[in-house]
Amino acid sequence: MHTDVIIIGGGIAGLRLADLLHQRGHPFQLLEARDRIGGRVLSEAVGQGGYDLGPSWFWPGQPRIAEQIDRFDLTRFDQFSTGALAYEDERGQVQYGRGFASMEGSWRLQGGIGALTTALANVLPPDALRLSTPVTGLSREGQGVTVTLESGETLRARRAVIATPPRVAVHRIAFSLPLPAPTLAAMRAIPTWMAGQAKAVAVYDDPFWREAGLSGDASSRRGPMAEIHDASPADGGPYALFGFIGVPPDARQDEPALRAALVEQFGRLFGQQALQPRALLLKDWAVDPYTATDEDRRPLNSHPQYELPPVMGGLWDDTLHFGGTEVAPEFGGYLEGAFAAAEAVANRLAPATY
Ligand SMILES: Cc1cc2nc3c(=O)[nH]c(=O)nc-3n(C[C@H](O)[C@H](O)[C@H](O)COP(=O)(O)OP(=O)(O)OC[C@H]3O[C@@H](n4cnc5c(N)ncnc54)[C@H](O)[C@@H]3O)c2cc1C
Repeated sequence: MHTDVIIIGGGIAGLRLADLLHQRGHPFQLLEARDRIGGRVLSEAVGQGGYDLGPSWFWPGQPRIAEQIDRFDLTRFDQFSTGALAYEDERGQVQYGRGFASMEGSWRLQGGIGALTTALANVLPPDALRLSTPVTGLSREGQGVTVTLESGETLRARRAVIATPPRVAVHRIAFSLPLPAPTLAAMRAIPTWMAGQAKAVAVYDDPFWREAGLSGDASSRRGPMAEIHDASPADGGPYALFGFIGVPPDARQDEPALRAALVEQFGRLFGQQALQPRALLLKDWAVDPYTATDEDRRPLNSHPQYELPPVMGGLWDDTLHFGGTEVAPEFGGYLEGAFAAAEAVANRLAPATY
């Protein structure tokens, strides 16, 4: 099989790059390792609601995501933040009070962020997107590149774009010609945003915390969750609370024990009714090999300054490119950055002529 561009990774960045190449008439194939599109975007359905186990927020001043929401006629709404906050100390003592709701002013998407990845995938030619297709090798051959799949199959293209976290690419893809040592070092040095995180979403039939005057925002020094917010749909239920799990990856691998501790904590913070969720959704990104590597298990203390390091540009006579959010020219790490990275690569590979 021969195409112009092979895109490795079907997260927001890979999907948007595919979309732009398609609009500009460039043949491509998008290869995604998982059996689903979206990458770090993962929304699960319970009843009529879509609940985000990956990203859930975007913000004013992010033009690309706003444009896509308009384009696909999706609906954004404000993060719910009305009411008192809860604070849990080391001993599990809970206090309620007014304060700064940390995510007030953030926007969410009706149906979850997955509504956006689904919309993007739906405008692509179905035969250009392959799921369950992990790439294990990339080699520079002749005028182009040869891509080796886990199945052993090989594909030829004029150019390839790695739209995965750079660290994941180092771990999962064998490069021949070998990449220069400074390039590999730069790829390993780029932390994957949020890769060490785990999220839990508790789904309920009733918004009992709202009825009790609570916003659903909570912080805890006891754990396992460190930070909690309302995760309900825009209108109606099922309603939900979600938390970022604060205990390190090694200490959260006993799933039954973790689930029990999560429900107990929801109960301590929000009362008896919180002990009976209709569903408890859980996703540990730190142990997902298509998002995280061992280096990502250490928590990041601040948002890294992301950009494309010069040693990761112009590789293999400009036939090998990077295009995920971690190399975005702006908003790196965020959803908006994934769109920005896709645009930057598309403009290098297939400049818009209009
Ligand atoms: C828990 C969590 C919360 C977050 N919250 C927010 C938020 O609120 N707001 C925000 O803006 N951002 C948030 N983010 C970050 C956001 O998810 C990312 O910026 C964005 O999804 C990155 O998109 P991407 O396409 O660059 O990478 P990814 O989504 O990581 O996509 C890469 C794709 O490559 C695939 N892949 C990897 N290796 C291979 C291989 N060898 N062969 C083929 N395919 C491969 C993967 O399966 C994946 O689909 C959050 C992330 C997490 C994990």
